[in-house]
Amino acid sequence: MKTLIKNGTVVTAADLYRGDVLIEDEKISTVATSLSMEADRVIDAKGKYVLPGGIDVHTHLDMPFGGSTSADDFESGTIAAAHGGTTSIVDFAIQYKGQTLRQGWEAWMKKAEGKAAIDYGFHLIITDLPEKLEPEMDALVGEGVTSFKLFMAYRGVLMLDDGSIFRALSRTAENGGTICMHAENGDVIDVLVRRALASGRTAPKYHALTRPPRAEAEATYRALCLAEIAGVPIYIVHLSAAEALEKVTEARDRGLPAYAETCPQYLFLSYANYEEPGFAGAKYVMSPPLRGEGNEEKLWRGLAGNDLQAVSTDHCPFCMKEQKELGKDDFSKIPNGAPGIETRMSLLFDGGVLPGKISLNRFVELTSTSPAKIFGLFPRKGTIAPGSDADIVVFDPGKKTTLSAKSLHMKVDYNPYEGRQVTGAAETVLSRGKVIVENGKFTGRAGAGSFLKRNPRTA
Ligand SMILES: [Zn+2]
Repeated sequence: MKTLIKNGTVVTAADLYRGDVLIEDEKISTVATSLSMEADRVIDAKGKYVLPGGIDVHTHLDMPFGGSTSADDFESGTIAAAHGGTTSIVDFAIQYKGQTLRQGWEAWMKKAEGKAAIDYGFHLIITDLPEKLEPEMDALVGEGVTSFKLFMAYRGVLMLDDGSIFRALSRTAENGGTICMHAENGDVIDVLVRRALASGRTAPKYHALTRPPRAEAEATYRALCLAEIAGVPIYIVHLSAAEALEKVTEARDRGLPAYAETCPQYLFLSYANYEEPGFAGAKYVMSPPLRGEGNEEKLWRGLAGNDLQAVSTDHCPFCMKEQKELGKDDFSKIPNGAPGIETRMSLLFDGGVLPGKISLNRFVELTSTSPAKIFGLFPRKGTIAPGSDADIVVFDPGKKTTLSAKSLHMKVDYNPYEGRQVTGAAETVLSRGKVIVENGKFTGRAGAGSFLKRNPRTA
């Protein structure tokens, strides 16, 4: 099966040129300024960008949290991702207390199997790390689960103590794994939450007011210090506060291998959203919370200047009805999370590239190339080059869309960007050479996605 994408502008993290791309079966075989060979199918990309498929390294599909389960499973979530131009995800499997690490991974493999429409990998969330389980970290790295997520918040549920965190970091220094850190000081936040509830402050906005930016900055700094002592790179997930970014910048300026991602919600929404009337603020209850206005400009600067290396979504949708409602009288019972897997590429193009905050190349780097490199998928994923998987997005830079829960494909009854108009959208999406989205229709198949066995760090 040969597919030829003609007349487009090929954009990678490094290049931008008028080019044709020939795909043979699942791989890109030839890229040149003009190709005229026969193909089973020709896609005309005139006036469009030809981009490597988006890679979202922070999603929570089918994830139990606070007595509820995120509204998208691996089928609806990956189909929504594809519509938005994302062709690979790295989701989070959870090892619960008392389980082996492998049990956690296997449970999530079952959730994805037969359902995922695009390729998927897993980070493993470790919630319990007795010393006897440490060798299992090495075994999982060998099987392609090359990153682990640890929490410095949610004591009694997900949180690990600093000693366990340090042991995990030290282990990855040896086995080539990478630690992803949720950096917030959970114990301090728990005290602030209890005080707020005791004095009757129960509205959604108190979720944000009990998780101050300093609590994120402190934990970020602590995580960076622990990684420095262990002598290993670290990746801070969903960095939201400019104060936390300062800590990452400081570490990088000292030459440390510190990496961090941010998410569209921290670039396009702010604390003001929590002040929306009634219970509407619950739509934005996520951790870390949205920050005050002005914060986002500093994140944009971090993205442009490479103090932040990736934009992922932390996609973790809960419906307002029956799910977010659980916290109607107590903000601490609102399931944490919001939808985003489908809107990442359009939002970042519209709000980042068009106003000149980031270049088109940087857009590709942040949404695809750099996450592929950090998480062991490059050059199989994350670029357009001979030999790479044919995960390709034909992106229409002029297409205007109004974001709305009604037309988006995520299985959730609201959208945090409802009514926002964006310019730029995925038009045709290919996953390993197969067209899976065309003219707004999903033409792929649930279950066609494969597990991504990722490579360990080489540096
Ligand atoms: Zn998350």
